[in-house]
Amino acid sequence: MKCASCGEKIEEIFLEKIKGTYLVKGKNKVVVCAVCQQKYSIEELQKKYLQ
Ligand SMILES: [Zn+2]
Repeated sequence: MKCASCGEKIEEIFLEKIKGTYLVKGKNKVVVCAVCQQKYSIEELQKKYLQ
């Protein structure tokens, strides 16, 4: 899977654990890498990528 913000590939550590975070709203689900997570707030990312 790729980061919704920068397009960087996100590594899966094991099972559902990833080096990043899931943003979920209804049926929409995107992932954001740890770097973008630090650059932007969760609220900002949700506004941008989950409409
Ligand atoms: Zn990113």
